[in-house]
This record gives sequence, structure tokens and C-alpha cells, in this order.
Amino acid sequence: MILHNYELSLPSYSVGENVYNLIGEKCLPYGKNILVIGGTRAIAAAKEKIEKAVRLAGMTILEYVVYGKDCTYAAVEKLRNLPVYTRSDMVFAVGGGKALDTCKNLCIVDNKPLFTFPTIASNCAACTSVSIMYKEDGTFLKPHFFLHPAIHAFIDTEIMAGAPDRYMWAGIGDTYAKYYEAEISSRGEVLQHFTALGVAMSKECLEPLVRYGAEALADNKTGKNSYALEQTVLAIVVTTAIVSIFLTRDFTPDYNSGLAHAVFYALTTYPVIEREHLHGEVVGFGVLIALLCDGQEEEFAKIYALNKELGLPTKLEDIGITPEQFEEAMGRIPEMSDVKHYPYKITRNMLQSAMERL
Ligand SMILES: [Zn+2]
Repeated sequence: MILHNYELSLPSYSVGENVYNLIGEKCLPYGKNILVIGGTRAIAAAKEKIEKAVRLAGMTILEYVVYGKDCTYAAVEKLRNLPVYTRSDMVFAVGGGKALDTCKNLCIVDNKPLFTFPTIASNCAACTSVSIMYKEDGTFLKPHFFLHPAIHAFIDTEIMAGAPDRYMWAGIGDTYAKYYEAEISSRGEVLQHFTALGVAMSKECLEPLVRYGAEALADNKTGKNSYALEQTVLAIVVTTAIVSIFLTRDFTPDYNSGLAHAVFYALTTYPVIEREHLHGEVVGFGVLIALLCDGQEEEFAKIYALNKELGLPTKLEDIGITPEQFEEAMGRIPEMSDVKHYPYKITRNMLQSAMERL
């Protein structure tokens, strides 16, 4: 057994329609001058509410800066060299995963106070201690881990309700995958404290989505903030982040991924995946394969029905992949690092019969 000496910081967050009113209380202790970094559309969606709250708090926004296009080390460096960055007391990161991850890699590394303002419910970037880094050509590079997340995440559900629904739609697929992947990867093991907590809590990445997912998505389509939407946002943004922080504390072995993600990463070879589909959408399809390979009939039926109801993919055609392409990808899936730590060896035969059944 390993004796640990470690630090683990959990995210601090607030959720609701009026959370920006807490800006003064949460941010003023760090200074008055704010640099806002984010995506163009995200800044447009949040600007009015942020400015009102900042004014009430007696603080100042020095400038709005667009983060770039992808979360790359070059984009981080470019922001680091801005004079306004040096002058600011803190950064407000506004946007989806890539904008927030760029700001995390900038500010957490520099020890600059950082607050996140997620505007879409597509993933848990607002609350995690990791940035997903990309190469200059827009393809995946690696995860970059930190010791702690941003100081506080302001999760405004009204803004998220007004965002395009495809983000929450895909976020749902990536979120329920977290439960199945954690549960299967850890099966039969006596787990240490943080991993055990992560696996236990991962159940909450599934249940709220089965209960509220469809209603939340319908509300998102009409821009209506509701209890169902709030519960779904919390599962996608907060629960998944906490689970991921616990499950990656040890970095290896990996309980934080599994066959659904292996399917996704093996398919990214085909440009149609990155060009026309979202990460969580394809991962949600991968969960169906994972459950069939695992022999979980009841769970498969449940997720198949959920995907049908939400319009998430249930067949190859839905993700623009041909049977020949999948045939080829089956050679790569068992080799993906996501299934290095798995209770059994994934074989081509297993994938083949899962695909036939599907
Ligand atoms: Zn994912």
C-alpha cells in the first residue's frame, strides 16, 4: 500500500439566476481590476449581467479579450504577454470548455486569481483542475493537471438556458459516461480513499440525467430556466468535476475513462467526428458499445431509450461513420490508453458482437 502525502482542493461554486450578485463578496478580497477573457459569443451572452454586478461591487473591468480559438500553449503565452494581464488583479474566464481551460492554464500556473463563468453546460471545465490542451492544428495534445481549480465558479443557469441546446445535449452523453466508466474500471477492487469517493459519487453523474435530462433539454430549446435544467447543469458542471478531481488525484491507474472514450478517441481519426459532431455526443454512443461489451442488458436498454428520447446517437450513421470505418477502428480501440486499466481485455470479437447487436 502507498502512504500518501497529498493535497486535494475541491471546487467552490454558486448556481442560480442571481449568482453574479456574489461577485463583490467572492472577488473583492483579491483586488478591484478585472480582465475578462472568453469566447466572443460567451462574452456577448454574459456581459450585461457581469457589468451590472461589477458596478454594484465597486470593481472595474479593464478590458475584454477573446481567448483565441483553441486551448493551446501558444494561446496561453499570447495572453500572458498582454500588458493588461499584468495590470489586472484577477481574471474572469467566460465561456465554454476551451476558453475556461485556456484561462486555467494561464492563471493557475501564474498564481493569478481566477474566477470562471461558464455560459454553456457542455462539460465540467469550470470546476475541474485540468486543462485539455490542443495542438496548433486543433487536434488533441494532452491533459494538463493543476493542484487546484479556479477560486470560484459562477454558474448562471439563466444564461445557460439561453445557450444553444446542442451543448447541453452533448454534455449529457459525456456526463453519464463518467458513471459507467468509473464503475466498470474500478470493479472488483478495494479502492483508496479518494478513488472510492470518486466512484461512489459518480452515480450522481447518471441519475439526475435519466430523471431530468429530457425535460432540461426541452426547456433549453425554449430558453426556459427550470428546476430540471438546474439539476442537469449541476450534474454536468459540478458533479462530474468533483468526480474527475477525485479520480485523477493519483493520475494512474486511470479510473477516469473507459471504453466509451476509447471508442471516441479511436474514431477521431476520421475528420467527420471533430468537424460535425461533439465530444459528448460520440461518447454517448460509445457508452452503448461499452454496456453491450460488459453484458449490462438492463443498463443498455435504459441508455438506449434515453439516447433515443434525447436524440443522442444510437447507430453509426448518426455519427457519420461507415461500417468499414468502424471495422477499421475496432483494431485501435483495444489499444487506447482509456482501456489500459479495465477489469478485462477488450477484444475485437467483443466489439464486433456488440456492434452487431446494436
Ligand atoms: Zn469526455
